[in-house]
Amino acid sequence: MPEGPEIHRAAQRLRNALEGSIITHVECPYVTIQGQEHRFLGNQVLSVEARSKAMLIHIGEDVLYSHNQLYGRWTVQKNSTKSKKTNRSLRLKLQNETHTACLWSATDIQLIEPWEIEGHPYIAKLGPDVADRDVNFDDVLKQVQNPKFSRRQLSHLLLDQGFLAGVGNYLRSEILHSARISPSRKLNTLSTTEQHNLAHSAIEVTQLAFDQRGVTVAKELYELLRENGLSRRQARHHVFTRDGLDCHECNSRIVHTRMSGRRLDFCPSCQN
Ligand SMILES: [Zn+2]
Repeated sequence: MPEGPEIHRAAQRLRNALEGSIITHVECPYVTIQGQEHRFLGNQVLSVEARSKAMLIHIGEDVLYSHNQLYGRWTVQKNSTKSKKTNRSLRLKLQNETHTACLWSATDIQLIEPWEIEGHPYIAKLGPDVADRDVNFDDVLKQVQNPKFSRRQLSHLLLDQGFLAGVGNYLRSEILHSARISPSRKLNTLSTTEQHNLAHSAIEVTQLAFDQRGVTVAKELYELLRENGLSRRQARHHVFTRDGLDCHECNSRIVHTRMSGRRLDFCPSCQN
């Protein structure tokens, strides 16, 4: 399932293709937006933003809200490029003079008005989005120090979008390793230094993943490991999907476990 960095990259692609332009062709076959073509056609795309795993496209006086859940996907291509065949179901097609953006297979699609955004049931619950360029260290630290979350175990808490939005499964393992904190720790056991490390790592690792298309190790290290024959899966992270391999920091063996029903990998020496 895509995490914050992947959704924000999709938003960037949509932004580059659509922002500022007029919609010249539209198809809305999906039930929740059927018959609403007039709300897109001839209107200007004002902005595109991602909020955790939701996409918001401001068009004319409306906002198109979509959440991809497991199967949804946005694609963008130039009008001059021939479309590839796909088994996915088209939900929405937006076209301007140069590009076509399509939303496939998503089931949570709504047209709302701008004033409804902050009160939307999904968006209202989100914590600060660490995949957002404008996220602020103090906002993240405030969440880390919020008594509301203090008794929660980090392995569970980091998947809670109300704590930090944009963090998913690979980021959970990578952020905890970067902060040198064990996944079984509770938030209220962290020292002030560890609180700062966690807030710092949450932003830094997520933004690195955005910049490097899902790679959370330094680019030079990734390239070296790939040259040495490691697969992308073995090379792209410090701990996630690297169980059985050695930690780059301390040479201990990375350990695999499942927490909150999902894969989690960590280094028992670095993280305590
Ligand atoms: Zn280690």
